[in-house]
Amino acid sequence: MCGIFGAICEDALSDTLKGLKLLEYRGYDSAGVAIKTQHNQLQLTKRVGRVSNVIAATQGLPKVQFAVGHTRWATHGEVCERNAHPFLSQDGRFALVHNGILDNYIQLREQLTQKGVHFVSDTDSEVAVQLLMTKAPLYDDIKDALTDTARMLHGSFAIAVLDSNTDSLYLLRRGSPLYIGISNSGNYLSSDVNTLRYFCSRVGVLEENAFCELNSKGATQYSIDDGRVLPIHYINVKTKQLDKDSQGDAMLSEIAEIPHALQKTFDYLTTTAICPDKSMANNIRRIYLIGCGTAYHSCLIGAQYIRRFCNVTVEAVLASEWWYSYYKADSNTLVVAVTQSGETADTLNAARECKRQGATVYAVTNVEGSTVTFVADKVILTQADNERAVASTKAYACQVLALTIFALQFAETKGLIASEQVADYKADFYALPRAVGSVLAEGDKDIDRVANKLSQSKAVYFIGRGTDYFTAREGSLKLKEVSYIHSEAYASGELKHGTLAMMEKGVTVVGIACDSEVMSRHKATVSEITSRGADVITVTPYCTPNECDTLVIPIVNAIYYPILSVVPLQLLAYKCAVLRGCDADKPRNLAKSVTVE
Ligand code: GLU
Repeated sequence: MCGIFGAICEDALSDTLKGLKLLEYRGYDSAGVAIKTQHNQLQLTKRVGRVSNVIAATQGLPKVQFAVGHTRWATHGEVCERNAHPFLSQDGRFALVHNGILDNYIQLREQLTQKGVHFVSDTDSEVAVQLLMTKAPLYDDIKDALTDTARMLHGSFAIAVLDSNTDSLYLLRRGSPLYIGISNSGNYLSSDVNTLRYFCSRVGVLEENAFCELNSKGATQYSIDDGRVLPIHYINVKTKQLDKDSQGDAMLSEIAEIPHALQKTFDYLTTTAICPDKSMANNIRRIYLIGCGTAYHSCLIGAQYIRRFCNVTVEAVLASEWWYSYYKADSNTLVVAVTQSGETADTLNAARECKRQGATVYAVTNVEGSTVTFVADKVILTQADNERAVASTKAYACQVLALTIFALQFAETKGLIASEQVADYKADFYALPRAVGSVLAEGDKDIDRVANKLSQSKAVYFIGRGTDYFTAREGSLKLKEVSYIHSEAYASGELKHGTLAMMEKGVTVVGIACDSEVMSRHKATVSEITSRGADVITVTPYCTPNECDTLVIPIVNAIYYPILSVVPLQLLAYKCAVLRGCDADKPRNLAKSVTVE
């Protein structure tokens, strides 16, 4: 979940720290860097907290040519300097950083301890470097020691090793992503393909179960299983400048970018073949939309539209539940895996399993070159650009748009909806970016007022019917993610089946009511709640009952309300976080890209 970055270049420490700063959004309880000094000594600097603490602690160090760094999201061992990466082998030869979880670390630690190895941390990761140290003397070539080590590690890992005896960095990958970047001014490694864009335009994707030697001349990849050389698959990526978009109030600026991101995504979706062709479409008997967290909410909306328009059995499935739910996939199954980062481990694992069972897998992702793009048979790329805040906003809006257009085009391909009607829906899209823009421009005072109320509430409930219910779920998730206010979401009709018992003074309910047909039901729900002392705020384009506060949104084609009505909820979450003194961009305990199961 955290990040690895490394560099071989003229000022490797400075570039590695810049890379770590870009990666910080993925995990940030502690950070560290290892450098190789001019005297071929390895030197570590680790700090609890932000990368800026490591930057401060390394001020004044001379330029070095080799460095690897890490931002940690602790899985094994408390958050403290001792447990921060990198780890040094006991003999001082190797420094190692690790993303992932080593399942057999207890056994390995016991074996190594019996051999006299002394551990300095409580992490699973440290066993990898101490194991490598014990293997190195057994082989003439360090590469053989590394593959031997990798074969003994169970679990998931992206590992980078700095060796004081050679002028190479060594990378190992199984289950966790790892990329290399090649440029004229230096060669790099990162666990996040996006960060490499700031340093180079040529990016190599390491294979699953591969090992790679990276030095100033380039990279060679080998199979961990049998040692044979594996070709490296390179992609050219659009480079970016390091500027203010790499830090700061990311969540708010990403919400502000939604109109632009939607337009770019719409242009892409309507000029790219995103749907199966007619013969394949007619063979599909079942569709699963799979995702986790926010991406799962986009799946719920997508499934609703596919059910409505496409006459095919469809289900949104939590990827993390796939293994426990007896779902079946076969050659007549289409699986659409939705993951912003393209690295979500649960989604990747479920998608791989579906493929194994014969299904066709499509991916909806925001990151070109991410792991899911290699797992999937077809990729639908949302055009939200780099999303840095942990809580997804603009990427979510684009996921929902992608699945909406997918549903329409799929129905059109199957002849279930007239092309003119699809053209009308698409024509109506043009009002959407402007409508989001007006929520952003005009909503401020109202949203501040409501945020004040929510941030003082003892609990918040989000409710809605139909797709509004799915938006309610996303609004609730966003609020708890960034402001830590206790919040839950319910289908409005479910209130009287239990949750009405919670309604009392001090509780606030946020109702989403964009479907004109359910407005009268919503009015009845409002009275049921307010008569028990709780407050109601309604997000709607329509008139609301007097007793409830309203966040009014513009009128758009009803199919686009899930994209529009979530925006005030995202703003509410952000403002509540600020009011409560929380860091909206980097909420506690969470990471952007959940690369562990
Ligand atoms: N399991 C390792 C640890 O707890 C690495 C976690 C990570 O990927 O940040 O230190």
